[in-house]
Amino acid sequence: MRSYKIAVLAGDGIGPEVMNAALKVLNTIGEMEAVKFEYEYAQVGGCAIDETGYPISEETLDMCKRSDSVLLGAVGGPKWESLPQDQKPEQALLKLRGGLGLYSNLRPAVVFPALADSSSLREEVVSGVDVMVVRELTGGIYFGTPKGSDQNKAWNTMVYERHEVERIAHVAFDLARKRSGRVTSVDKANVLDVSQFWRDIVIEVHKQYPDIKLDHMYVDNAAMQLVRTPKQFDVIVTSNMFGDILSDIASMVTGSLGMLPSASLGEKYALYEPVHGSAPDIAGQGKANPLAMIMSVSMMLNYTLDLPKSGLAIQTAISEVLESGYRTAELYREGDKLVSTDEMSDLVIKKLTQVSERVT
Ligand code: NAD
Repeated sequence: MRSYKIAVLAGDGIGPEVMNAALKVLNTIGEMEAVKFEYEYAQVGGCAIDETGYPISEETLDMCKRSDSVLLGAVGGPKWESLPQDQKPEQALLKLRGGLGLYSNLRPAVVFPALADSSSLREEVVSGVDVMVVRELTGGIYFGTPKGSDQNKAWNTMVYERHEVERIAHVAFDLARKRSGRVTSVDKANVLDVSQFWRDIVIEVHKQYPDIKLDHMYVDNAAMQLVRTPKQFDVIVTSNMFGDILSDIASMVTGSLGMLPSASLGEKYALYEPVHGSAPDIAGQGKANPLAMIMSVSMMLNYTLDLPKSGLAIQTAISEVLESGYRTAELYREGDKLVSTDEMSDLVIKKLTQVSERVT
């Protein structure tokens, strides 16, 4: 029997609730595929600070390195907000990204047909949207030196090295090959030298992918186009800061934070987590939407564990549960069937068994 080690970092707030819901789904996949998932648990974020004084320990990082994949819930909350910046729960995220070398962040923004009217944009603009934002995660202005500040000025530096652009470009082109075959590279090459460098290297790497259509867009235009006609995009590849902003715009096209998964990938390790935070306002009430976490599991099956049929089965099951009118509280409207976190995951599990026969 194939077996995989999964590091489970549930975190704070709604993290443990959505993680439990997602692991139930993963266990069902295990039974269906005759695959064994072995879980190792550790605390990260605020709960780890309470226990050890640190947001993440070296042992936890080592545990992640021993695993085939990492699942993360969310970290943070009001209890730890007044701590100094370098001691906050969110430091765990930076330590994980850096420590595991997770240089590419994949954020799909998919509009499920049943939720096309939940977006703040018009239904005809968003229905059918399926965009993948590939954000460079460990370079660029967030990490460049020199940086600093004094009484009269402050400065950061946007630096990209050749190998950093090459590897993220490969990620984008490889992904496009499995999708609609189009990549839009977003930069600010009309103003920034580092962006012209980025563009030149993306063009160079593209020569290895003659089957993929590449175009380039300035970041200001890309922000506008994402809101105007999001359907024009397939894969967007961009630098750390531009990706930070554009992936949030793309995600809001879909309507709810509770529906957005993400993958952070490196050469050796992979981490999957929902885009949302720990939602302290609804923690412990069974109101959290577990679908972002469940879709993060679906991405893990697809990209790391080589179980793409199961990944697809989860997506299809979610779509059908939503079609049947079931909604967690944040998406609920009159006429819908209101369900709790656990009920939503049970519905997905029930559908999975029916769906898996159809997608095989
Ligand atoms: P948040 O994403 O936690 O919540 C924003 C709003 O969306 C809230 O009203 C919340 O109830 C709702 N929401 C979020 N996820 C939901 C879900 N699955 N189902 C239903 N509703 C959901 O953002 P915030 O309030 O700005 O941050 C709260 C804490 O989370 C902060 O400490 C922040 O630093 C942290 N945070 C952590 C991560 C992470 O761990 N990756 C990401 C973002 C924020």
